[in-house]
Amino acid sequence: MEFAVLAESFKRMEDTTKRLELTQLLVELFKKTSPELISKIVYLIQGKLRPDFEGIELGVAEKLAIKAISKSSGIPIIKIEDEYRKGGDLGHAASKILEQKSQTTFVIEDITVERVYETLYKIAKLEGTRSQDMKMKYISSLLNDASPLEARFILKILLGILRLGIAENTVMDALAISYTGTKENRESLERAYNVSSDLGKVAEVTAMMGLRGIETFQVTVFNPIRPMLADRVKSEKEAIIKIGNKFAAEYKLDGERVQIHSKKDKVILFSRSLENITSYYPDIVDNLSKAIKADEIILEAEAVAINEDSGDFLPFQELMHRRRKHKIEKAVSQYPITVNFFDVLFVDGKSCLDLEYSERRKLLETIVSENEFAKLVPMTIVQNENEIEDFLENSINSGCEGLMLKMLDAPYQAGARGSYWLKLKREYRNELGDSLDLVVIGAFFGRGRRTGRYGTLLLAAYDDETDTFPSLCKVGTGFTDEDLDQLYQLLSDKVTLKKNPRINSQMEADVWFEPELVIEIVASEITLSPIHKTAMNAIRKNTGLALRFPKFTGKIRMEKAPEDSSTSEEVIALYKGQKKVIQDTKQI
Ligand code: AMP
Repeated sequence: MEFAVLAESFKRMEDTTKRLELTQLLVELFKKTSPELISKIVYLIQGKLRPDFEGIELGVAEKLAIKAISKSSGIPIIKIEDEYRKGGDLGHAASKILEQKSQTTFVIEDITVERVYETLYKIAKLEGTRSQDMKMKYISSLLNDASPLEARFILKILLGILRLGIAENTVMDALAISYTGTKENRESLERAYNVSSDLGKVAEVTAMMGLRGIETFQVTVFNPIRPMLADRVKSEKEAIIKIGNKFAAEYKLDGERVQIHSKKDKVILFSRSLENITSYYPDIVDNLSKAIKADEIILEAEAVAINEDSGDFLPFQELMHRRRKHKIEKAVSQYPITVNFFDVLFVDGKSCLDLEYSERRKLLETIVSENEFAKLVPMTIVQNENEIEDFLENSINSGCEGLMLKMLDAPYQAGARGSYWLKLKREYRNELGDSLDLVVIGAFFGRGRRTGRYGTLLLAAYDDETDTFPSLCKVGTGFTDEDLDQLYQLLSDKVTLKKNPRINSQMEADVWFEPELVIEIVASEITLSPIHKTAMNAIRKNTGLALRFPKFTGKIRMEKAPEDSSTSEEVIALYKGQKKVIQDTKQI
């Protein structure tokens, strides 16, 4: 397929935000695409080359892209930077520059989607000292043959700023229409996506084998399953109302969720956001076979830092010491962990997702032989508020966050947050009732003791409807000196010259960041706000929501992707929940 066809499609997609129109444009594009190419087209639509869990990142810096544009157009760097500063993004700037140039030269060769994809793939795989030169060579060779419109999208993909605003569900709607004749079949595609986390693969199977193929889509080892998530409850009573009067209660450990895939000697670990985190836990890789009796397996566990002498659980932050590329062995011995299994999703060729919780737990107990390193998450069956309260007390005393309450006859619902699993945390009972995970979008420089670091951070929630990060509050309390140093360091490579277009904030920060880092915040209340953009117009016209007295809890949620942070909808639910409590108290 000619890349011009894809670029033209992208342009039309950029011009609309309406879901129906986007679906229609996708259907038109898919109709022109061969089944062999469909997976690549689907990845490119999402601005990717492969599914996220493979960790293939283009990682081209703006500076290098500017140099490449200059090299292929013969236009000085300074002029390109000027054009960039005038507005838009670097993709638009390059397109404008090449438009001027294309009036004097002509395009030599048509470029195909296959060629663009392969070149981008080579760029992503380059490593080592000469890689910058090679990247430049590849980029400028593509730009040499690209029309201005093609250059615009090649650069956007390269820089990771292609934002067509197309949700995964919209892609699946379009695939279902194109290859099965009706949108009604999307559910089958969704199921396949939830068990593979690979939209390209789902597209390929649908295009090649139709509905039958997708309905028989199997769980496979080393393809991560999208995790099942829990709803929150504020009290034992609410839990009983939601899941009945007999269910399982498990300790909610304060560590990192790890999805463990293993076949023969190969082990791969995925985080909650399905990033490959195998290198952070060599101890899990080394010790797994001693505890597990199965050849091929997918398990879920919580890795928790422990005090080696007492065996007590330590807070989540202790795991952050392992988030490093070098000297991981030292971190492993300095910050030991235990791995605590809580679910089994696949064993020796068979998916366990449709088994009931009680059957999966039984199976897990036969597969895991516990030892010093590998444990089963403590579980008990509870039938009334007192029993839950008792077990909650035990869990808190052992250094856990609270309880996970699980319906006994429920299947594993990959990728879903529902009321089959509930979380009950102790701190839910006070003030706002829950902590929020928010994305750091900007910062203000500190004064006094905080000079040279950021004194206050600007935080956002995630709006999944618009795929943006609307501001929710500024936070300047709860930070120790060590926190401030660590945050300054972590944020240093996220600084951007201009506000990322996905950030929605009226407040002007001193520094803007790529919306990537997620931190945990507690607050006393959620209030209406004329300034902050979260839930704008949802409760009142021209008014958003903001946190009152926000405070950093000390937890940097490295395991969470920005899209996993608290959503506008969750903030609205908390706001409404809090109003209900106030009304209830007034009635008393
Ligand atoms: P939250 O991040 O607050 O939404 O809570 C869900 C997280 O709790 C999961 O992603 C797991 O990392 C963690 N967790 C701890 N203990 C358990 C458990 N027994 N079952 C399931 N998840 C658990």
